[in-house]
Amino acid sequence: MPPSSGACIFCDIVARRSPAHIVYEDARCLAFLDLFPFTRGHVLVVPKLHVDRLVDLPPEAYPALLAALASVCRQLERLTPHYNIASNQGELAGQIVFHLHFHVIPRYTGASPFHDKPRGRLADAEAHELLAALRPTERT
Ligand code: AMP
Ligand code: ZN
Repeated sequence: MPPSSGACIFCDIVARRSPAHIVYEDARCLAFLDLFPFTRGHVLVVPKLHVDRLVDLPPEAYPALLAALASVCRQLERLTPHYNIASNQGELAGQIVFHLHFHVIPRYTGASPFHDKPRGRLADAEAHELLAALRPTERT
């Protein structure tokens, strides 16, 4: 069951109670731009069903999540064929939002974008430009 309103920011985004720049949606999954991106086009892919972590996800939900992840990757390949897919599980692994999600982080140079410094907030103008570039097509 999802937590009650306000308890989970990603449930709020799924329910459209909170804003997000959505790049992909199907019946079971949603993907949106990370608000504090490591790189341009950093996307989060989430199941609409609230679970804290991967081991809590019902196995019948696996195929849809993997399919959504692959669709988002196809969209992001319009920006670059190089990207990391990552999922932090647990606080010590860096998980901050306890609603299962996969990061897809485009890479444009060989330099690592991963660091502990605060990341800048996504600007609206950049988000709108990315939404236009990543718009789903029949091939995604
Ligand atoms: P994690 O550390 O794996 O839990 O990552 C959570 C991610 O969610 C971080 O990269 C945040 O920048 C991102 N995030 C948190 N709140 C929002 C939001 N309202 N919209 C988009 N991304 C968010
Ligand atoms: Zn949630």
